[in-house]
Amino acid sequence: MVDTEVAIIGGGLAGSTAAAMLGRAGVRTALVDPHPIYPPDLRCEKLDGLQASILRKTGLADEVLPAATFDGGVRDGSVWIARLGRLIDKRPGDQHGILYDDLVNTMRATIPPAVDFVAAKAVSLSTCDDRQHVALSNGDTISARLIVLANGLSVALRDQLGIERIVTSPCHSITVAFDLAPRDAAAFDFSALTYYPERPADRMAYLTLFPIRETMRANLMVYRTMDDPWLRDMRRDPEHCLFQLMPNLRRLTGEIKVVGPIKIRPADLYVTEGHRQPGIVLVGDAFSTSCPAVGAGTGKVFTDVERLCNVHIPAWLSSPAMGADKIAQFYDDPVKRACDEASATKAYRLRSMSIDEGFSWHAQRWLRFVVRAAIGTARQFGAVPAARPSL
Ligand SMILES: Cc1cc2nc3c(=O)[nH]c(=O)nc-3n(C[C@H](O)[C@H](O)[C@H](O)COP(=O)(O)OP(=O)(O)OC[C@H]3O[C@@H](n4cnc5c(N)ncnc54)[C@H](O)[C@@H]3O)c2cc1C
Repeated sequence: MVDTEVAIIGGGLAGSTAAAMLGRAGVRTALVDPHPIYPPDLRCEKLDGLQASILRKTGLADEVLPAATFDGGVRDGSVWIARLGRLIDKRPGDQHGILYDDLVNTMRATIPPAVDFVAAKAVSLSTCDDRQHVALSNGDTISARLIVLANGLSVALRDQLGIERIVTSPCHSITVAFDLAPRDAAAFDFSALTYYPERPADRMAYLTLFPIRETMRANLMVYRTMDDPWLRDMRRDPEHCLFQLMPNLRRLTGEIKVVGPIKIRPADLYVTEGHRQPGIVLVGDAFSTSCPAVGAGTGKVFTDVERLCNVHIPAWLSSPAMGADKIAQFYDDPVKRACDEASATKAYRLRSMSIDEGFSWHAQRWLRFVVRAAIGTARQFGAVPAARPSL
């Protein structure tokens, strides 16, 4: 029997960040995950400026961000914004490219040795107002005052407690990820590029190209079903498929080649019900997902964990018991709620903005294009900052 104050189940981004913060705050913590090293997995592959600023609130940014490739430090240090083959803005780079397993493993490296890492699966939970128990696949049990459930997309444990997952938008978007290189040159002219769709019928949100070390990584966000033949074609002849989807992309990239495997993964949007229970709190994807195209998932993870570990857990541990009234303070936290609501609103808005027909959406798309072009022009004339943001 391992006896601790906080048992974190799941050592993905949310659980590892929580373990690092609690361990550094001197809270007795155990982190349970079957993988001693987080395996390769298609998830978030970059942090933008806003996500990096939320990460700073955890106190871990200075150790994590150097492992990423900052696009502001490559070539002209800007992100080219383009549509219809036309470059409309060069905004200062603020993206930190990093594969998800590298991000999680870098985060894990910040966890102090005082945190117990248990390489096992949690197989059952029992919770109450006082002490919680976690039964593990290796036969051990953890006794803790609080369970932080950070087990991502997995449903098994929540079912045991009657915590329900409500899928609000199945296969809301699909992420297609691959490495891209110029066919006839050593490197692309840009450090990063975001390319918006040419027509709603293209069923895409955007293509983003960003550096990870020496490689140009591509994330193409599309709104399709998993049985759409377009996905099969993309695997078979990706260069042809990309130029068919974005014929004017060639003006910016020249001839291209896809290097290495193409990874394709859908994302459902879901929320949780029945979670206001004693002794257990859900964070990150275990609580709700966001659309990868909006790029809000890691912002939600960092917001959840920052609020939980900076504000709520220290207060909860300072008095006896762990009733549902204490736990509710986290779910009602105004910063968390605002983050969750904004991420859900953006997910539906971006989808409609990308693929919905109808006068209103056409008008909004053109307005977005005109505003971006105006900002780009103003930036050229020095009316909008062109300077690189600092790391
Ligand atoms: C295809 C895709 C692309 C995305 N792209 C972006 C993006 O561009 N930008 C962005 O901000 N967000 C993006 N996201 C979202 C973001 O990656 C997630 O929100 C984030 O990774 C969630 O982290 P987590 O720690 O909650 O879950 P996870 O990283 O899934 O961690 C869950 C952990 O729980 C462990 N676990 C599961 N069951 C058990 C058990 N029984 N016992 C012990 N451990 C267990 C697993 O081993 C895992 O380590 C994307 C998501 C997807 C699916």
